[in-house]
Amino acid sequence: MPIRPVFERTERPIVIAGPCSAETEEQVLETARGLAGQKIDLFRAGIWKPRTRPNSFEGVGTVGLGWLKKVKEEVGLKVTTEVANTQHVFEALKYGIDVLWLGARTTVNPFSVQEVADALKGVDIPVLVKNPINPDLKLWLGAIERIYKAGIERIAVVHRGFSYYGETSYRNVPRWQIPIELKRQFPDIQIICDNSHICGRRDTLLAVAQKAMDLNFDGVMTEVHPRPDEAWSDAEQQLTPDQFAELLGQLVLRQPTTDDEAFLENLEHLRHQIDDIDDELMNLLCMRMQLAERIGAYKKRNNISILQPERWGEILEKAIVKGKVKGLSEEFVAVMLKAIHEESINHQARVMNEEVIGE
Ligand code: PEP
Ligand code: MN
Repeated sequence: MPIRPVFERTERPIVIAGPCSAETEEQVLETARGLAGQKIDLFRAGIWKPRTRPNSFEGVGTVGLGWLKKVKEEVGLKVTTEVANTQHVFEALKYGIDVLWLGARTTVNPFSVQEVADALKGVDIPVLVKNPINPDLKLWLGAIERIYKAGIERIAVVHRGFSYYGETSYRNVPRWQIPIELKRQFPDIQIICDNSHICGRRDTLLAVAQKAMDLNFDGVMTEVHPRPDEAWSDAEQQLTPDQFAELLGQLVLRQPTTDDEAFLENLEHLRHQIDDIDDELMNLLCMRMQLAERIGAYKKRNNISILQPERWGEILEKAIVKGKVKGLSEEFVAVMLKAIHEESINHQARVMNEEVIGE
């Protein structure tokens, strides 16, 4: 049985919006009323908040479910909240929450996912599965599978980026290749971009939402608060309802494809050039590895170890400078060269070992 869509609407973007956390009844209803005039598919608010450190605001708990019920009844929006254990599921169902979501810190833990899945057996409710905090596609797919096996057919995924230790302008790095691969394996699953948790700040929310649309994501999940600076959680990344309306208005929705012959012909032509360059890159990489093997044999004969850290440091530094001049980002050059270097070392090591074995 295939996974079924969570959202009936096929016109993009699907929109999920609402505060990071439900704080007070007034704040929840004020946000919902501020969003009511926009095309909102789901109103979001966290009731139980998984915070990195204790003593942060950990959510208002069950009382907030009553406020979400009011959003449904008084404002007419469908509502969603995060669940992480059996009690959360039972409470959320009792209050008529329309859609549940699994947060990044839950998806990462198969015990928790299984607990939620077990609590959902025999229930017909759509579930959104956020990516795990670490960049592990299998863990993400595993969570989807556990929920699906519990009999939940309406499942969509939310891409909220991945933890990264180091300098980055993102709160959670997007690593677009991971949701793209998920979509390749499950072409029919709806995929939503949580630009708020990817960005962690307001000024980049539009660019990330636009990128998601250009990659054919189905929609966005964005945190909206009547007074973002006063929010009890994630204050830096939330937008007012008006700012959010502006963001939606600025999104450019491009078609995934067209039947315009001239366009397709031109695209084909450009793609051929890309394919040729890829072939050339492969040939060059192959030549580079052959050279690495010759160097390996040479070093072996002269009893020199494989890794020479200063030379490697120099190669990397020079390449980053050259790359910058040519418009390649430092991050890309470093990742690419490190991968090439690792492969070279593997080739050199193989040559050395073969010689040992051969001796
Ligand atoms: C959230 O959506 O408020 C949240 C806690 O997100 P995540 O699980 O992606 O960190
Ligand atoms: Mn948040």
